[in-house]
Amino acid sequence: MTDDQEQTLRALGYCSCCRRALNKSKGLAFAGMNRRASWEYPTRGDELLKLPWREAVGVLCDDCASAGSRPTWAVELRGDTVFYYTPVELQEAFVPSEELLSFCRSNGLRFHWSKAPRQVADAVRAFMKGEELPESAVSVVRWYAWQSCQGKDAPPDLREKLLGLDQRELNVFLSEELPKKHGIEVL
Ligand SMILES: [Zn+2]
Repeated sequence: MTDDQEQTLRALGYCSCCRRALNKSKGLAFAGMNRRASWEYPTRGDELLKLPWREAVGVLCDDCASAGSRPTWAVELRGDTVFYYTPVELQEAFVPSEELLSFCRSNGLRFHWSKAPRQVADAVRAFMKGEELPESAVSVVRWYAWQSCQGKDAPPDLREKLLGLDQRELNVFLSEELPKKHGIEVL
């Protein structure tokens, strides 16, 4: 976010938790909501997991930030307009388990799903069986496939495909199109 954008958000926005105007707040704090953002500002990336999407955040006033409160609404600044969304309006993204986070910290992001922490191994195994999964589990597979394709000769629209396909289409893409057309085995 630029300073201008931050000023606009402060002038026009309200706290994502207590709904008080932000213009009296000294600082703006942002907290992630484990949802995919379909907008640019404000959002956050994940340095450790290198997610293929940006995470939606809520904005917090000084009081709510220092109380450690969690946001109820995600915020988008588009031009001079501020929009708020409830989590159900946004696409789910997985919440990484502590086990997965510490695994990634010590092993990096190049791993095979069968040797990964349970969160990844379970999601990929169920996905391969064609079980109907909640988006939180499918998003684990989307992220895992994104990591597996890094440094390989993947199609240029890989990100759009991984993020845009529904579970069934994604299964066809990962189990047929990627290996046959691009020689990439993800599953
Ligand atoms: Zn507040």
